[in-house]
Amino acid sequence: MTLFSNSFSAGVVGLDFTLKEEFELGAWGNMAIVSKLLSTGEFNIFPAGAEKSRAEKLEYLFRNNKYHHLSVCNNSNRVRSNCGVCDKCIRTKLMLLSRGVDIPVELFDSIDVEKYLSRISINKSTEAVFYNEITHGDSKLSSEIKSSLKNKLENYYSVLNIKML
Ligand SMILES: [Zn+2]
Repeated sequence: MTLFSNSFSAGVVGLDFTLKEEFELGAWGNMAIVSKLLSTGEFNIFPAGAEKSRAEKLEYLFRNNKYHHLSVCNNSNRVRSNCGVCDKCIRTKLMLLSRGVDIPVELFDSIDVEKYLSRISINKSTEAVFYNEITHGDSKLSSEIKSSLKNKLENYYSVLNIKML
């Protein structure tokens, strides 16, 4: 980003996680402190978005009709579209439902969630952070989906020998 310092005096980097989530994750490539440390005397880099979770950011985009170009898909055959069945598409749809937002049919090839729930496996701490958020608090997910995801989280944490709260 500092390559633009001849034209701009500062840049903004969007963060993936809240500060609390960053603390849970430990070292992570897109942490607020890492972004800030990349600043120079002539070019400041400001991390942004640490006050909102991924699901809250998604909810904002959808409630403000700013989602039409959203591309979350992990399917390598996809460019600017979302298959609706890969892990990231399913997770994004679950995040929307957890915030009480209807899944837009124009954004995903498949809006079904429960059909693909069995495909979800939680193997990384970043995934666990996302699934923790959407299964707790004021989540609007059905009790069946929450239960299924909590079982997957328990399996993930049991491998790490960590007990869920
Ligand atoms: Zn996908």
